[in-house]
Amino acid sequence: MFENLSERLSGVFDRLTKQGALSEEDVKTALREVRVALLEADVSLPVVRKFVKDVQAKATGQAVTKSVTPGQQVVKIVHDELVEVLKGEGDPGALKIDNPPAPILMVGLQGSGKTTTTAKIAKRLTEREGKKVLMASLDVNRPAAMEQLQILGNQVGVDTLPIVKGETPVQIAKRARTQASLGGYDVYFLDTAGRLHIDQELIQQAADVRDVVEPRETLLVVDGLTGQVAVEVAEEFDDKIGVSGVALTRMDGDGRGGAALSMRAVTGKPIRFVGTGEKVDALEEFDPERIAGRILG
Ligand code: GDP
Repeated sequence: MFENLSERLSGVFDRLTKQGALSEEDVKTALREVRVALLEADVSLPVVRKFVKDVQAKATGQAVTKSVTPGQQVVKIVHDELVEVLKGEGDPGALKIDNPPAPILMVGLQGSGKTTTTAKIAKRLTEREGKKVLMASLDVNRPAAMEQLQILGNQVGVDTLPIVKGETPVQIAKRARTQASLGGYDVYFLDTAGRLHIDQELIQQAADVRDVVEPRETLLVVDGLTGQVAVEVAEEFDDKIGVSGVALTRMDGDGRGGAALSMRAVTGKPIRFVGTGEKVDALEEFDPERIAGRILG
């Protein structure tokens, strides 16, 4: 079992001489524990290396305040640095949806929680911001996925584009745009198809849709329990389609959410939402403080 990082560090510092400032040796010793904690939280190795190096430089020579132990001091420095790396600019939950109808493209691997997250965000916009929202599934190969969005739409009280067989994703996207304009919708979500692994054909399909509708936001949905894979997925989707924000799902699970740090550090993309369960209300705005605490265990 993972012990609390502060406790681990107190143990380490008990063996060190108490000085007025953190020496390079003190910090190095403490950061060995931090490194293990980050790796256990599934942060990718290159990100751990860079993070530890940055903290080393910041912490060395810092005066230890009387009220805290050197261990607590290092934990605070590490925590603050984590929050700094994790946080994006502005309000994570504020989507760019002025100038209606605003298209939002949802992308990600199959099983990441894309369809569920689409419905969750649509519900949030409807209930909290009073927006009129339309959702459309572009998954022409999986009728079950289209039906799933329809069922979720009924559940959350958000309209879905009627299903028409035999259309291409671009045709569906255009129909959604027309319906959104004519129906006075503020926002329309396009839930693209995904496969279990990165698939160039589907990525191209989403890129074609992007070119036609010019989405105001392209949200990548990633399973927060997949550490290194999450980073690869984010890099690939951002490279080929261009991503404006990330929704991390399954943050209700046992994982410690290291994927959040890896993705943010590698792609620079802001994390906007966190999925915390299967239910349609289980969505939170991303909170860097909370994730930092969780990563540190
Ligand atoms: P898609 O293939 O990417 O569209 O994935 P789905 O939206 O169909 O989700 C796949 C499964 O993951 C479903 O059983 C969802 O209920 C579940 N799921 C989605 N988001 C979360 C989440 O944040 N936490 C948990 N525990 N399950 C989730």
